[in-house]
Amino acid sequence: MKISTIVPAHVDTIPDQLEDGVLYVCEQYKTVVHKCCCGCGEEVVTPLSPAEWSLRKTGDAVSLKPSIGNWSYGCKSHYWITRNRVVWAGSMSPREIDFVKARDKADKKAYVETVNRQKSRQAWPIYMATKLWNALVVWWRSK
Ligand SMILES: [Zn+2]
Repeated sequence: MKISTIVPAHVDTIPDQLEDGVLYVCEQYKTVVHKCCCGCGEEVVTPLSPAEWSLRKTGDAVSLKPSIGNWSYGCKSHYWITRNRVVWAGSMSPREIDFVKARDKADKKAYVETVNRQKSRQAWPIYMATKLWNALVVWWRSK
């Protein structure tokens, strides 16, 4: 069952058993953990860092930015946590999900992957040229 409110709990370590509707905030490890708000039981880990999520406190209420998109889970749920409220994005089409994913610059992993892919693409001609040169040297010496 989808929940509409979530209560923050400040903890020193993340407990083994998580409860529905509780947002476990661990300042020491800069991590926030909660059970997916759709009720599927999956654990959602949101690390706190400038490139990942940020937690804002307004009195007793907390907000997490950016939104939580559980694309890798079966439920594919997408929601915002704003002042202890769970704001559902509704079911999005794969295209809309792609759009949100692309726009979400906070997705550090995707960013790192993109950078690495570009790096290997740039390295490819150099690699080929080196191989060709080595082959030429071997051929030259064999004469
Ligand atoms: Zn879920």
